[in-house]
Amino acid sequence: MPTSFPARLYVEVTTRCNLRCRMCVKQAEGCRIPEGDMPLAVFDRLASCLPHLDALVLNGVGEPLLHPDLPAMVRLARRHMRPDADIGFQTNGLPLTPDMARALTDGGVDRVCLSVDALATTAREELPGCLHGGMDAGSVARAMDMLRAAARGRARPLRLGVEFVLMRDNAEELPGVVRWAAARGAEFCIVTHVLPYDAAAAAQSLFVPDTDEARAFFDRRAADAARLGLDLRRYFDVVWKFAKSPEEKALVDFVLHMRQDAAEQGISLHVKRLVNGMDAPVPDLGPLFEAARAAAAETGMDLRLPRTGPSVERRCDFVEDGAAFVTADGSAHPCYFLWHRYACFLDGEPKQVFPRTFGSLADATLEELWNGAEWREFRDEVRAYRYPDCTNCPTGPCDDITGAMGEFDIDCHGVAVPCGHCPWCLGGVQCLR
Ligand code: SF4
Ligand code: SF4
Ligand code: SF4
Repeated sequence: MPTSFPARLYVEVTTRCNLRCRMCVKQAEGCRIPEGDMPLAVFDRLASCLPHLDALVLNGVGEPLLHPDLPAMVRLARRHMRPDADIGFQTNGLPLTPDMARALTDGGVDRVCLSVDALATTAREELPGCLHGGMDAGSVARAMDMLRAAARGRARPLRLGVEFVLMRDNAEELPGVVRWAAARGAEFCIVTHVLPYDAAAAAQSLFVPDTDEARAFFDRRAADAARLGLDLRRYFDVVWKFAKSPEEKALVDFVLHMRQDAAEQGISLHVKRLVNGMDAPVPDLGPLFEAARAAAAETGMDLRLPRTGPSVERRCDFVEDGAAFVTADGSAHPCYFLWHRYACFLDGEPKQVFPRTFGSLADATLEELWNGAEWREFRDEVRAYRYPDCTNCPTGPCDDITGAMGEFDIDCHGVAVPCGHCPWCLGGVQCLR
């Protein structure tokens, strides 16, 4: 078999950060990500893969500007990469200095994406906790000014962009952020839903994981229940009661029949999530996205909006695009979801995520790991798309995939990749690629 190489490489240069964002995996209970920087000598071991890359992204869980060797890494990568291949990273911008900006642009960085989740227009008390870009868009503006100044007159253009994490508390700021960023020289804007790490962050999410047909079916049945005087919100309080009142029995029977009807029609109904969502329905994002598109069209911004609901087509962009991920300790992984041990909160339940590791740069080169049987078989299994849709499983999420029973082994389809319960695959979460 001929040697192949990753086409996109994500390198976590550090796991340290200067912020404590409320939506960050590092703040999650159960997070086991040790703090540390990738030594330059470990980065150097990637050299043989660099000429084959289309893109290098110097990000993981941490702030890349805190790594003292970041400019040296960019220089090394630029020396080995094709001229048309792209080097970028995402940052909160706070640690940037004019000297650092010059070192990075002289070294050959092509894209820098800054985190902006709110402008100074929102009352601070409405946005509790630290946001992704800090609490002061002024520091992001200063970082953009430094980068633009450093790139002036350079033969290789520098593309600036912003990332906006869409949540209930800050959603209405999106069109303003697009205009604000464009006025400061940003050319692209990546909008992503939050990947929740606890129940509070999950309540902030505006992504609707239910399929359109499941929502329409449930809305009809919820209206029927209301006409019959049944309160579906009480179902989970009474379902396991031994002695039920006649009303409680009627409620349990109603939900049982609703589940059966849905199954007969081939509709997967996640009853708990749908019932929980009755009191805090997700607003229609159509008008907001229209306003954001209009702001982008006015300003020439390349706007990447996320899906508002799950994609019917199963597709893993990371695997399809030939991506490889290397953590700060030099171990190799398949994607942003499976490269650390941490907790998240999906479909109303906490979930322990365990990393999928294919070896370490301490023992082998990246192409040796990439071409090894374990990583090849993993990619083939992901691309076969045989895994179930755990997000819309009527009985899920089960212990096999929440990590309650320890590391994932296989799902109910017998598939050994933990992709059935992956939020990236649903299309609501996106990042600099
Ligand atoms: S800036 Fe990024 S890595 Fe740092 S705390 Fe915030 S989300 Fe986490
Ligand atoms: S693995 Fe568990 S949650 Fe996923 S579809 Fe199967 S039973 Fe449902
Ligand atoms: S867990 Fe998600 S992102 Fe990772 S390989 Fe599977 S589908 Fe792709």
